Amino acid sequence: MIINGKEIAKKILLELKNETERLKQRLITPSLAVVQVGEEKASESYAKNIIKEGENIGVYVEYHKFKKEISEEELLFNIKNLNLRKDIHGILVEFPLPEGIDNKKVLETIQPEKDIDGFNPVNLGRLLEGTAFFAPATAQAVITAIKSVTTIEGKNAVVVGRSNIVGKPTALLLLQENATVTISHSRTKNLSQITQMADILVVSVGKPKIINRNYVKRGAIVIDVGINKINDKIVGDVDFDSVVDVASYITPVPGGIGILTTLMLFKNTIKACKIQNKIP
Ligand code: NDP
Repeated sequence: MIINGKEIAKKILLELKNETERLKQRLITPSLAVVQVGEEKASESYAKNIIKEGENIGVYVEYHKFKKEISEEELLFNIKNLNLRKDIHGILVEFPLPEGIDNKKVLETIQPEKDIDGFNPVNLGRLLEGTAFFAPATAQAVITAIKSVTTIEGKNAVVVGRSNIVGKPTALLLLQENATVTISHSRTKNLSQITQMADILVVSVGKPKIINRNYVKRGAIVIDVGINKINDKIVGDVDFDSVVDVASYITPVPGGIGILTTLMLFKNTIKACKIQNKIP
């Protein structure tokens, strides 16, 4: 069975629109600032996508685009200004930033209550505690996709990939949901033996077809986070055709986790708006 991201997204979209509507009745418009530095095509289209989705949901998206020559000091100054603004509830800085700008400093400058990406060290630390204001969007998307078809508690979950933006936060959220979690990575020995133990297998590596049926236990739920471009075609990390009849459920690429991830950014923005306006 295929986990249809588009179908799940429809339901979430409706919930987000309703929440925005309720906030607007109190004369509050949830607002997100998107900060882009330079002209990277991928960043540009990501920003456009967010602006479009914001219009659809009713969240105001303010686009701050800076020349790639901007100094670190000036960029941090602008982020601090966004921190101070009461009408901006969420701040999203697009990566990669140009050389010479310290990513860590930028992430540390975003106020944790506005850090809707959840990458500020305070939020990552609080994620470990289970008290983060915001969990990273992709990790939330993975949990949402899994919960659409099964419960998580007591399951063996294996996460392939340990990045700070996907692998580690996803593993922490799975742990919070009471799964037994294994994290694997490029130095893991006998990867297939480990992944074959998974009731829930989450793959976030960035290498097409790295996981085929030999890595998957019959009946497992397979979540493919990967986004790889091959000859203008987007494919995941999982060899879909090989795995589809071994897994009980699988997410397609495109049409799986990617769609849900953007919505989770808006879920976080609305949450940020409520936190800042002290609305339960
Ligand atoms: P990173 O490159 O930051 O991390 C990749 C991880 O995969 C690393 O932990 C690396 O291990 C591990 N890895 C590499 N090779 C192997 C291997 N042969 N076996 C096991 N593990 C391996 O990538 P991201 O996590 O940022 O992204 C991964 C993919 O997910 C990309 O395709 C990206 O485009 C996509 N993505 C999708 C999103 C969505 O919303 N759908 C959002 C974000 C990313 P090590 O740590 O040892 O180097």
